[in-house]
Amino acid sequence: MTTILAQIHMTASDCVTPKRHKMQFENLNISEPLQRALIKEGYTTPTPIQAQAIPHLLKGEDLMGIAQTGTGKTAAFVLPVLQMMAQTHKVAAPGVPRALVLAPTRELAAQIDASFGTYGQFLRFRHAAVYGGVNQGPQVRALSRGVDTLVATPGRLLDLMDQGYINLKDVEFFVLDEADRMLDMGFANDVRKIVSKLPQKRHSLFFAATMSRQIGELAGRLLTHPVRIEVAPQATTVESVEQRMFFVDQNNKDALLLGLLQQKNLKRVLVFTRTKRRADKVASVLSKNRIRSDAIHGNKSQNQRTQALSGFKSGRLQVLVATDIAARGIDVEDITHVINYDLPNEAESYVHRVGRTGRAGASGTAYSFCSAEERGHLRDIEKLTRAKIGEMEHRYHSEDAKRGAGSGAKGGPRRQGAAPRGIGRTVVQKSGPRKSDAPRPGPRKSDPPRPGPRKSDAPGSGPRRSGRTPARR
Ligand code: AMP
Repeated sequence: MTTILAQIHMTASDCVTPKRHKMQFENLNISEPLQRALIKEGYTTPTPIQAQAIPHLLKGEDLMGIAQTGTGKTAAFVLPVLQMMAQTHKVAAPGVPRALVLAPTRELAAQIDASFGTYGQFLRFRHAAVYGGVNQGPQVRALSRGVDTLVATPGRLLDLMDQGYINLKDVEFFVLDEADRMLDMGFANDVRKIVSKLPQKRHSLFFAATMSRQIGELAGRLLTHPVRIEVAPQATTVESVEQRMFFVDQNNKDALLLGLLQQKNLKRVLVFTRTKRRADKVASVLSKNRIRSDAIHGNKSQNQRTQALSGFKSGRLQVLVATDIAARGIDVEDITHVINYDLPNEAESYVHRVGRTGRAGASGTAYSFCSAEERGHLRDIEKLTRAKIGEMEHRYHSEDAKRGAGSGAKGGPRRQGAAPRGIGRTVVQKSGPRKSDAPRPGPRKSDPPRPGPRKSDAPGSGPRRSGRTPARR
């Protein structure tokens, strides 16, 4: 067997600091029209996943990439796919794409499609995205004009295939993005159905943020002798992100959030809640306190989601409150802070959330609120990331939350001496805040007025567990 099976590992810090690497795009044999687009975007230096993946992909090898969002993985596949497609001049037939990218959410699909447009702006090709939650009419019209690259969420793709608008018989390049989230969202069967319609002979690329047995099996079915590239050790949080934990009672979380948002440097803040209802509630508390904010989650119409996202991108909104699934794939530059209003009940989600800030070399800050009920989740997060998150002193500090005491408490802190070890490439956070954005430790006269907790947030109205309902998108 002559196929190369390469295994390349890079550190988490590598993946967010492209400038440390001397490699330039021109050394990667990227074609001139693509280089021109990159220069226009201000990108001269490939990120590690780009530097490592592009040469293999241009040779036609299959790829398995273990990479979080924020590593530049989209360009790592969009650039070679466009370059290889441009080498053979074919006219795209209606509804018969040459490249298919599957993504778990509408937002991610729209963003990948926009990346095809951006990087391919000096090439002649047609691109489109299809996803649920919007009228299929414009998508069907785009398909009928012929598309070279198609980005799709599984549900809408299958619908349009069933209706005869899409045929996958000529797919040369197949990319499965965020495969782990795809499985989490219950798309395994849909993916299987879609893959069964692809030609056997194709170039396949597979990306996941984390590795598991299930993911390994799926990759094994889809890929042929793949090169494996891992840009962040599994579940390591992005090093450029400053992380802080606030122990707080559930009924003080609104007040803590409002207090933090008074600080000038919290300019573009993504707040995570565990449930859609809570996302709405937090956004409404913020709006009542004159903080420019909106919520984004699966119960919102596509138009509402698009509007909220564009308001956040343009800076009209200071805060976007989101659930994990809705926030998946949101690529907004310069998110200064991620705030975990609720800790996620799946530790991996913490890594994804934190990765929303500190993207592509920028620094960022992640604040997390932990109530007594969530103490067990914190323990899971620290176990997974193998790093202890520094505690922040603040005026709403709760010893019960810290000790995991009280009626709703689940899982206390570790016993003394069993603290998680910061190993290798993970960072053990220092306990002090950064000077620039440290919330003041205790109440001071000059502090913003202390907004009182709202009745609706009374203890006992703790977070509901969000179900893992498979959603067709
Ligand atoms: P991704 O991981 O694909 O979601 O990309 C994260 C962000 O990095 C996006 O905003 C990209 O536009 C940006 N990006 C991609 N490649 C580069 C690069 N070579 N240099 C700087 N930023 C990049």
